[in-house]
Amino acid sequence: LADLGRRINDAVNENIIKSGGSNVDSDSINLMLKEISNALLESDVNIKLVMKLRERIKKSIDVECEKNKSINKKKLIQKIVFDELCNLVDFETYEENNDNNNNNNDKKKITVFKPKKKQSNVIMFVGLQGSGKTTSCTKLAVYYQRRGFKVGLVCADTFRAGAFDQLKQNATKAKIPYYGSYTETDPVKVSFDGVEKFKKEKFEIIIVDTSGRHRQEEQLFEEMIQISNAVNPQQTIMVLDAAIGQAAESQAKAFKESANFGAIILTKMDGHAKGGGAISAVAATKTPIIFIGTGEHIQDLETFQPRNFISKLLG
Ligand code: GDP
Repeated sequence: LADLGRRINDAVNENIIKSGGSNVDSDSINLMLKEISNALLESDVNIKLVMKLRERIKKSIDVECEKNKSINKKKLIQKIVFDELCNLVDFETYEENNDNNNNNNDKKKITVFKPKKKQSNVIMFVGLQGSGKTTSCTKLAVYYQRRGFKVGLVCADTFRAGAFDQLKQNATKAKIPYYGSYTETDPVKVSFDGVEKFKKEKFEIIIVDTSGRHRQEEQLFEEMIQISNAVNPQQTIMVLDAAIGQAAESQAKAFKESANFGAIILTKMDGHAKGGGAISAVAATKTPIIFIGTGEHIQDLETFQPRNFISKLLG
């Protein structure tokens, strides 16, 4: 992503900031837009999204420059590009359990889940195998444990041999209680039993790790629906590998249709991922990224701040 950031910065600097005189002509603006678009496309951002962004920046420049005739145009354009990039990954959110009137019709607003103490909050994870699901489950468990919650992990992946052992190993390392079975083959039963057990023991956060692979994709999605119906999660999180490129969008859409996740954890942001696919996935599903995974260790989880993310991207 660093390369994408550098190229966007160059596009703005070379064509706008360093251009001669105080005025900016439309040729320079068009050149900047073309270079930004190319950089995004080469980072796997969906073409329709890039075209929309280009139009939005252009329109915004026209409107704002007309409104603020006396203002430094160069800085204004730079700010517009920054704001529009933020809009790609930023959603106006509000917390679920505040007392505000939530039933307004503003579709842009997205409910953010906030676990409540002294009650059982069930969080279900979905995502393809290899995306970093089990690792992220443990990271999130540690995150909440450090904030004083009583946290348990449930392995509902009965499809892949070794899935329970992996979760067990991670959980043991992090000192998080876990539940799973070597003999039960029905993931719906395992997840239900695990959640019930932890609920009885007054666990406050119960994280359910599901399978990421099946003989048939439909079976995977069907299984997620059944598990979701059985454990009734307050939050469903999709884990998305930042490196999967263009495929991210269709993958996220397919999961959204069946699992209807409310949040995304973007993993492997420490790698050399182009990451543009993930940006497209977020935009396509209108679902906020809540955390990013920045390494293989338990503590490598950061809360996602859209504006910080874009600032960092642009260096
Ligand atoms: P799952 O199949 O979706 O449960 O994926 P795993 O949790 O087993 O992770 C697959 C691989 O990705 C493992 O080798 C993890 O250590 C690695 N991994 C997971 N998250 C991250 C991350 O944020 N950064 C890096 N570098 N590696 C990660």
